[in-house]
Amino acid sequence: MENKASDNLQDLQYFGEYGGVNPSISDSSTYTFLSAKTMFDTFEGNTEGCYLYTRHSSPSNLYLGEALAALEGTETANVTASGMGAITAVIMQLCNAGDHIVSSRTIYGGTYAFMKNFLKKFNVKTSFVDITNIKAIEEAITPNTKMIYCESVSNPLLEIADIKTLSVLAKKHGIPLVVDNTFSPLTVSPAKLGAEIVIHSLTKFINGTSDCVAGVVCGTKEFCLALKDVHDGAGMLLGSTLDSLRAASILKNMRTLHIRMKKHSENAHYLAENFEKEGLKVVYPGLKSHKGHEKLKSFMNPEFGFGGLMTINVGSLDKANALMELMQKKKLGYLAVSLGFYKTLFSAPGTSTSSEIPLEEQKEMGLSDGLVRFSVGLDNDIHRTFRMMRACMEELHILNPKTSMV
Ligand SMILES: *Cc1c(COP(=O)(O)O)cnc(C)c1O
Repeated sequence: MENKASDNLQDLQYFGEYGGVNPSISDSSTYTFLSAKTMFDTFEGNTEGCYLYTRHSSPSNLYLGEALAALEGTETANVTASGMGAITAVIMQLCNAGDHIVSSRTIYGGTYAFMKNFLKKFNVKTSFVDITNIKAIEEAITPNTKMIYCESVSNPLLEIADIKTLSVLAKKHGIPLVVDNTFSPLTVSPAKLGAEIVIHSLTKFINGTSDCVAGVVCGTKEFCLALKDVHDGAGMLLGSTLDSLRAASILKNMRTLHIRMKKHSENAHYLAENFEKEGLKVVYPGLKSHKGHEKLKSFMNPEFGFGGLMTINVGSLDKANALMELMQKKKLGYLAVSLGFYKTLFSAPGTSTSSEIPLEEQKEMGLSDGLVRFSVGLDNDIHRTFRMMRACMEELHILNPKTSMV
């Protein structure tokens, strides 16, 4: 395949102010102009390559944006101070009072809460639909619908959105398909499949060191410029600006993204296969038993695998909590939300990351109490990890002891 995201990233080359192999960090909030006329033109958005004020843009943020546009294959990208900063800016930019959104019902808890609760203030309504049911999606679209919103691999149920079909549907209705690709960088390239706007929480895999929050909107030049318009751009006016120092450090971490994604996927696949063999209810898109397996296979970039996220249903919330506490004690990872860290992170989504979703709706979408979400780490010896996790499960009577120890 030509024009691969990983090659596009590899080909980026920087020459810092003094010839450094990393670009210099722009340590300024404001920028001087040689003439008052140029300053006026910059305000009007008529000068390229001129910096005005860091909330608008900064060289460091533009470098990171460039790398993310290369990752997703979009014309350009705007970085933001968090994933929610990207999501809320896109929604506020596209919707006016009285408008409507069609969204997948299995999305990040914060996004769900924003659409369901916060947007009420602006009389923007959202229909939450099963994203795998294309007919239901189409039926939910009204003349006021301003976007179809979904996650490529959904949080936390790992449902797969058929991005190609959804983008055809969106185009037919003249609205953009907005895809949150946080769970599957490199594995899925939504823009190449027809999505108009691709969002990431950089906080997760892309940064990968769990030391900051950040986000990005990848899209057309026209949309990204509109977001930073000084008169009416949601990105510019809501003020979710990423700090330049942080942008520089995220850019450096991105250089190992391809290696990390392969390892996260390899390790998660190994654990998912082996725990499924043990008879546990495992959800992992790489398993043949996963509903979206064939779908994802048909459009993913196979060299990066099926991703680092999996869930195991251990039967009850009590068992889930006990297992997570024990695994943490055995140094197998952290009982923590978030994902994409070098250590495995586990949490019970029903009572944490998806607690914004009312219990009844959780049940309806198949989010049960005993679910443990794993963001599998970069463990060097994953067989050892498997054996240690299995021992924890035996101790808690989630699995029966093995008769012959391998
Ligand atoms: C974490 C996350 C977000 C929100 O990102 P922040 O950086 O925490 O604001 C949005 N979508 C998904 C899928 C996420 O996992």
